[in-house]
Amino acid sequence: MAIISEILQHNQSFVREEAFRAYETTKFPDKKLVILTCMDTRLTELLPKAMGLCNGDAKIIKNAGAVISHPFGSVMRSILVAIYELNASEVCVVGHLDCGMAGLRHRTFMKSNRKRY
Ligand SMILES: [Zn+2]
Repeated sequence: MAIISEILQHNQSFVREEAFRAYETTKFPDKKLVILTCMDTRLTELLPKAMGLCNGDAKIIKNAGAVISHPFGSVMRSILVAIYELNASEVCVVGHLDCGMAGLRHRTFMKSNRKRY
């Protein structure tokens, strides 16, 4: 079974049982916090628990390596929207040990993936 089928099946019962009610909050971050962090799957549950955050506490922006690669890119746009439209007042950039981006070299990456594209 493809993962999307599992997700849709789970979502049907999630909605039917109104399990989403436990996560209802506003669009405004309760702790007035924006976090830029890595998309690493090890951080999915770990980061909020390590920082004592609950649903609705912070705007969390994720990308590979927790980097701002362009001053007018989507990461900066998201941070600015969080500050100027959603009342966030603090920005945290959170990296982690053993990040896959730390050792990534663009030449090696492009060479090893050239066959795919
Ligand atoms: Zn990482």
